[in-house]
Amino acid sequence: MGIPNETDVLIVGSGPAGALLGTMLARRGVHVLLVDKQPDFERDFRGESLAAPSVRALRALGFGDALEAHGYLSSTGVAMWLEGRQVFHVDYRRFAIGTLPIEFPQPPLIRMFHEAATGLPQHVFAAGTRFTSLIEEDGAVRGAVLRGPDGTVTKVRARLVVGADGRFSKVRKAAGLDPSVLQAERDLLSFRLPRPDGWELRSELVVDRARHLAVLPTYPDAIRVSHNLPKRGLGALRAEGFEAFRERVAAIDPRLAPLIRTHLHSWEDTSFLEVFNASVGQWSRDGLILVGDASHTATPTLGQGVNLALQDVVGLTPLITAALTDGARDGVVRADVFAAFIAARRAHKEFVTRFQRRQEASLALHTPWQTFLRRARMRTLDALPVKYRVFDRLLNQPHPVDPVDLRSSPHHPAL
Ligand SMILES: Cc1cc2nc3c(=O)[nH]c(=O)nc-3n(C[C@H](O)[C@H](O)[C@H](O)COP(=O)(O)OP(=O)(O)OC[C@H]3O[C@@H](n4cnc5c(N)ncnc54)[C@H](O)[C@@H]3O)c2cc1C
Repeated sequence: MGIPNETDVLIVGSGPAGALLGTMLARRGVHVLLVDKQPDFERDFRGESLAAPSVRALRALGFGDALEAHGYLSSTGVAMWLEGRQVFHVDYRRFAIGTLPIEFPQPPLIRMFHEAATGLPQHVFAAGTRFTSLIEEDGAVRGAVLRGPDGTVTKVRARLVVGADGRFSKVRKAAGLDPSVLQAERDLLSFRLPRPDGWELRSELVVDRARHLAVLPTYPDAIRVSHNLPKRGLGALRAEGFEAFRERVAAIDPRLAPLIRTHLHSWEDTSFLEVFNASVGQWSRDGLILVGDASHTATPTLGQGVNLALQDVVGLTPLITAALTDGARDGVVRADVFAAFIAARRAHKEFVTRFQRRQEASLALHTPWQTFLRRARMRTLDALPVKYRVFDRLLNQPHPVDPVDLRSSPHHPAL
C-alpha cells in the first residue's frame, strides 16, 4: 500500500512504542500511518528484559499466546557481587505482582505488534521511510515530510504526529523540544556468550572497584555481558589490545574466563552503547506528542526502557482515541489533552532515572575507602525488608490504564 497524503495519526518510529501504539489505535478504528527508517524489524542489539508489568500488560492485551509460541526466559531476581562476594539479592518471586520479568528479543516483539494489525485497512506501515521535517501552520504541527526508500518525498497531513523515534529523536529536534542530557560517567561495551548448563536465570552485577560487568541471561541459550568503560574511553581500551580486554573481563568475573577464551575472538564480537539519561521539559505541542525513549531516555539499568515505553502507549491510547473522536474532524489534537498524562508519567520516570543515576554514581566509586563503604551500605540494604518496597516501586509500577480495558473496542473486539 502506498503512503497516504492524509491520516489521523502519523507515528514516526516502529520500535516497541510506535509499533504497539499503531496497532492499538488501528484496532480502535483510528487511521494510522506508521513509518520506520529501517527496512525490516531487525535492530541493533537492544536489551531484551521485559519488566513484569509489561509482561502482564501484554498478556492482558491478548499477546500471551504469541509470547508463549515464540518462547522466552523468566528472570527470577537480581544479584550484586562486590569484590568477589555476593552482597545483595532481590528475589522477584516475592513480589505481589505475581509475574516475572522475561527475556524476549526486540525484533519478534515488534513483529508480534505488527501481526496484530494484519488485515486492518486503517493501519499502514511504511518500512524504509524516514521522517525529514514537520509541517507546521499557525504554531501547530499539521503533519510531516517523509522520504521513502527510493528517495520519493511525500508530505503527509495528520491530526497528530507521534515522535516514537527513540533516544536520538529527529521529531523532537524538529519540534524544538530540546532535551536536557545527563551523560553517565561511563559507557558500555557488550558481547554475547553461550550460557553454560545450570546458569542461574537472574540478572547479575559483578563489580570490582570501579570496573563492573552486567551479566544477563539472554533468550534462548546465551548470556549477555556488558562492561563499563570511561566516557570516550573506547579508543584507549582498544589501544590496549583485544587480549588485554579479555583478561580484564575475566579478572572481574573468573566464571567467564573459559567462555571468553573459547567464544570471544575480536572487537567485531562486541557492541558499544553510549549511556545517558535525557528528558524533555515539554513532551507535546498542538498536533504532536513524544513517546518512549524520545520523551525520556533511561539507561539500561534494571531494563526499564521498553517498560516505560509500553506504559506510555497504554496510557496514551484512550487519550488519543478520545481526542480524535471529540475534536473537529480535521482539527489537530491539542497539547492540553496530554497535560495530566505527562505530569504523572514524568513523576514516575524521574523516580526511575534518579535511581539509575545513583546506581551509576555508586558503580563509579573506586578508592579503598569508597568501596568499603559501598560494601557496607549494600550489605545493610540487603538485610532490610525495605529493599523489596523500593524495588517493587521501581520495577512493578502498574500501567497508567488497566490494559484489560483496552483489549476490546467497538471496532475490533479481539486480536
Ligand atoms: C544496549 C541497550 C540495552 C538496553 N537494555 C534494555 C533492557 O534490557 N530492557 C529495556 O526495557 N530497555 C533496554 N534498553 C532501552 C530500550 O531499548 C529502549 O528504551 C526502547 O527500545 C525504547 O523504545 P522506543 O520505541 O521508544 O524507541 P526505539 O526502540 O529506539 O525505536 C525507535 C525507532 O525509530 C526509528 N527511527 C529513528 N529515527 C527515525 C527517522 N528519522 N525516521 C523514521 N524512523 C526513525 C528507529 O529505526 C527505531 O525503530 C536498552 C537500550 C540499549 C541501547
